[in-house]
Amino acid sequence: MKRSITILGATGSIGLNTLDVVRRHPQRFSVHALTASTSVESLAELCREFLPRFAVMSNPDSAKALSLALSDCPHIKVLSGKEGLCDVAGDPESDTVMAAIVGAAGLPPTLSAVRAGKRVLLANKEALVMSGRLFMDAVAESGAELLPIDSEHNAIFQCMPADKIRDTRGAGITRILLTASGGPFRTFSAESLRSVLPEQACSHPNWSMGQKISVDSATLMNKGLELIEACWLFNTTPDFVEVHVHPESIIHSMVEYADGSVLAQLGSPDMRTPIANGLAWPERIDAGVAPLDLFQIGKFHFERPDTERFPCLRLAAEAYQQGGTAPAVLNAANEEAVAAFLDGKLCFADIAVIIERTLEQVEVVPAESFDVIFSKDAEARIIAREQIALLSAIQD
Ligand code: NAD
Ligand code: MG
Repeated sequence: MKRSITILGATGSIGLNTLDVVRRHPQRFSVHALTASTSVESLAELCREFLPRFAVMSNPDSAKALSLALSDCPHIKVLSGKEGLCDVAGDPESDTVMAAIVGAAGLPPTLSAVRAGKRVLLANKEALVMSGRLFMDAVAESGAELLPIDSEHNAIFQCMPADKIRDTRGAGITRILLTASGGPFRTFSAESLRSVLPEQACSHPNWSMGQKISVDSATLMNKGLELIEACWLFNTTPDFVEVHVHPESIIHSMVEYADGSVLAQLGSPDMRTPIANGLAWPERIDAGVAPLDLFQIGKFHFERPDTERFPCLRLAAEAYQQGGTAPAVLNAANEEAVAAFLDGKLCFADIAVIIERTLEQVEVVPAESFDVIFSKDAEARIIAREQIALLSAIQD
């Protein structure tokens, strides 16, 4: 039986890599729906190639433009807004949803796919970070098959017995070794971090990714979000997960067992590997990834992360420990600070300052419902924006 795939965030880095794998296996996969935010031309082009039943633009004006652009393709129905995204994500006609929208905007449609009990390929880590327990409870309730696409979590998943991913101690696992590239500023001094530019932050040494996650990799917030993601996916706590900076990005993470064995998953830094793993699981398919040449790589290096220069990793671990709505506040403040940095309104080192101040000012409450999460997300964004304005007024 063919898998019928919906891709949330089809025009992004993960979305395009997913379509590249899908393109190689027309007998295995068909495309049910593609979504994007505002990139009308890219989505129109993808629609012409993959002929989905639905195309969704979250921006209503962009949806109108897409309808016009696809007026000669009457079999593709164009929808718009958050409602359109949630409708296609939960549509019973498709069985697999790639959650690859960036940021908090991805939570509602990802949740819709989870509640509909689909195979959910999770790239959109922010959705899980924000809503942790509620998200995992929804997975358990619907019987959705949640598979990690983040390369580290996919590596950890591959190094664990498939029936014990939420019972690590029962599986004899003693530690998760979460690898990190260290980002483009790994060797920069605290002083020189103040003057780095968005272009530098967005050119990652090993991975080609969207802008937001590139900045997150540079601040190590990406590793902080991934630490939280690992805790929820593998039902564990931060003390069980140790971050190892590994600048070559060849070992995508490791799992240590009670007998001293450490299992690792290695590969070229190419997201098509975890994507193909999730799409075809438990089978293995060609992903178009270059074979690993260890002779050429020669050496692997490992360092401890420096949370003095990169405080975001510490802030994320603290937010997880605090619990309740703290991770949602952390995530919202980070999204606002990263957007301001990319916009030239905030210096790189102040991203962490904004997050810390926002966490101090927004009261943490129990994460009782998704409504509470969304209202804390909104509150945190207001505070973060005020703090950004304050800092830039001082610097002007
Ligand atoms: P990207 O910026 O390249 O693409 C984002 C996609 O989401 C685009 O299709 C865009 O149209 C859509 N989008 C953006 N804002 C939206 C909104 N408000 N509403 C609806 N759609 C919106 O991002 P990316 O690098 O592909 O990352 C996507 C997700 O995958 C992120 O959560 C990221 O952390 C995660 N991830 C990415 C990589 C990677 O290699 N790029 C690796 C691991 C995890
Ligand atoms: Mg990752």
